[in-house]
Amino acid sequence: MSLAFATKPAAILLACALIAGGIGLAQGTAPADSPSVTVRGQTYTPRSILARNMGTDEDQTTAFPPHRVIGNVYYVGTRTLSSYLITTPAGHILINSTYERNVRTIAASVAQLGFTFADVKILLGTHAHGDHQEGDALVKELTGAQVMAMEEDVPALRAIMPGGKAHPVDRVLHDGETVRLGGISLVAHLTAGHTRGCTTWTMKATDNRRSYDVVFACSYRAPAPVTPAIEAEFARTFEVIRSLPCDVPLGDHPAQYDMAAKFARLEPGAPDPFIDPGHCWDEAEIQQAMLTAQLQSQRK
Ligand SMILES: [Zn+2]
Repeated sequence: MSLAFATKPAAILLACALIAGGIGLAQGTAPADSPSVTVRGQTYTPRSILARNMGTDEDQTTAFPPHRVIGNVYYVGTRTLSSYLITTPAGHILINSTYERNVRTIAASVAQLGFTFADVKILLGTHAHGDHQEGDALVKELTGAQVMAMEEDVPALRAIMPGGKAHPVDRVLHDGETVRLGGISLVAHLTAGHTRGCTTWTMKATDNRRSYDVVFACSYRAPAPVTPAIEAEFARTFEVIRSLPCDVPLGDHPAQYDMAAKFARLEPGAPDPFIDPGHCWDEAEIQQAMLTAQLQSQRK
């Protein structure tokens, strides 16, 4: 009882501080500043991970320079919210609309790369949180794209209704199903935990006549508290993701794969810095360590 009285004002203060600091709380609750874990010399807390992922309001809404990642895969998102364009001769696939207010920024990044936003035929997402999929209805309105989503995330997606717009879902996907367009195949892997239908996408990209396995990772950040159901989902998820072939690790927040540092190393004629098989599971390692620490502190 006394604990509840002691922590409630602190939680409110934290929420206010985070909002004042421009950190959007996609999950609606302020994360704690403990436990902390150290992975490869870096120390993380639930709060620092969210801050790293989201940055400021300006970071969430300012376009990062659009760029080719590998083959026909392009980055068209903001500084902290990833959006990927996969181009094909039959039209394009977009992964993550992000916030609705970012959709026109994404469209401008697509145009800057020389492509036409209206050619987006399929819209996919990594998970049913507003910072990744709030803009789905607007993307569909502007492009006519088919919106496809993992079954387990459909209820949460339906609840995301910016301005009262119904959330479109044209095709319901199941674990392991393939989405095809213009010779490109994307496989949807259920990697639940962060949300019930969190989806990690894989595809093969060809670059310089070589084929590379690209992994568009979902967020693996555990919510608090971790329920037994979520613990079980993550146990499966961390096994699944490490079984995926991977040359090019990507994520739904750029910090998950060190995008800015890799982008800075992009140079014509130099090796593609996004080919980074040695660091495919770095983010999973951080999140798995944090999950373990959270479970330990919950059991105290
Ligand atoms: Zn999320």
